[in-house]
Amino acid sequence: MGDKRGFNTGLLHDTAGRYANGQILPPISQVTAFEYESMEELEKVFAHKSMGFAYTRIGNPTLAAFEQKINRLEGGIGSISCSSGMSAISSTILGICEEGDEIIAGRGLYGGTIDLLHDLEKLGIHTVYADELDGDTVRKLVTEKTKAVFGEAISNPSLTVLDIEDVAAAAHEKGIPLVVDSTTATPYIISPIRHGADIVIHSTSKYINGGGNAIGGVITDAGRFVWKAEKHGALADFVRYGKMAFLLRLRTDLWENLGGCMAPVNAYLSYIGADTLGLRMERICSNADALARALDREESISVSYLTLPTHPYHEHSKRLLKGLGGGILTIRAGSKDRAFRIINALKYAKIASNIGDMRTLVIHPASTLYIHTGKDEAEAAGVYEDTIRVSVGIEDKEDLIEDFTNAVRSTI
Ligand SMILES: *Cc1c(COP(=O)(O)O)cnc(C)c1O
Repeated sequence: MGDKRGFNTGLLHDTAGRYANGQILPPISQVTAFEYESMEELEKVFAHKSMGFAYTRIGNPTLAAFEQKINRLEGGIGSISCSSGMSAISSTILGICEEGDEIIAGRGLYGGTIDLLHDLEKLGIHTVYADELDGDTVRKLVTEKTKAVFGEAISNPSLTVLDIEDVAAAAHEKGIPLVVDSTTATPYIISPIRHGADIVIHSTSKYINGGGNAIGGVITDAGRFVWKAEKHGALADFVRYGKMAFLLRLRTDLWENLGGCMAPVNAYLSYIGADTLGLRMERICSNADALARALDREESISVSYLTLPTHPYHEHSKRLLKGLGGGILTIRAGSKDRAFRIINALKYAKIASNIGDMRTLVIHPASTLYIHTGKDEAEAAGVYEDTIRVSVGIEDKEDLIEDFTNAVRSTI
């Protein structure tokens, strides 16, 4: 990249003046199809002989503007926007794997991803779980059938930190790519591609959008992985495109045909949301750190947050995440009943099933997000009967500390 500008400057000055008529923001191209002067021109677009848009499920200028923004942020060779984070994850796995293939995944995954991996078993795509996803474990678990390693940069809500360099090195030795879901970490905290990840996924519904106003997902390809037809049968028709193989497998084939495109208005909302990602993350991380430290002094609960010296991944966060902890902290309240009472006693934190909103949100994951997940699997993902998940927002930290401290003390 060679871009020495700061994070926020880069975000705000990546496209200045490039949109039609000098529009500072990309116009919302809320259309289904694009018309052409002649049939010959449209034929060229379909044959990929001239650049142009034909149909929004396949491509749209607002989606392209958002994709370019994320691609620059992640340092990839191209991004593909999707209707949701789950659409980005399913398109990626199905783009790489076919029946009989395996993937290796970390334990502490997002509930929806665990459910998807269950669904994929029925299509003959098997997941091998690593209790601790590191390079040595990958070397041990890999088989002839393994086609990818999948992990979350910071797992939600178990708060394990992926050592991307270590895992990527092991995956590459074995001729397989590393796919990182970096939703909770965000590009502000880590650039997975710079650490060796091959494909980076975000649920943009969360921190990238930040306003809680649009579901979306995005896939970014580092373009470094060398796909081989003998190894990755799912990409056999695309390996001749070299570093573009994966993007073209999705864009002109699987992603296009699954039909999970982002809505243009959602791309616009996510684009303007992303403009303030750096500012929000700075504030969110500082609020979460202050709240975790304050709650850590309360003896009737236990708090888990990456910047607390007692956290098992504290050293990882110092080494890999610039010492930042992200926006999620969890509280163990002692019982489900007390967890509910604490949540109900909160004045500002909203009870909602989301993270990454600029408003503080809370939820009891075991009775919601993990309700369909088995107890053992939920606990492996850091979700116990008494766990409260907090997604810290940008409110004033004094108010958050007061709100949570009161809720904790009034429910003993
Ligand atoms: C929310 C989330 C997803 C799924 O994203 P949607 O936009 O809700 O489909 C995937 N991974 C992680 C880590 C998430 O937090």
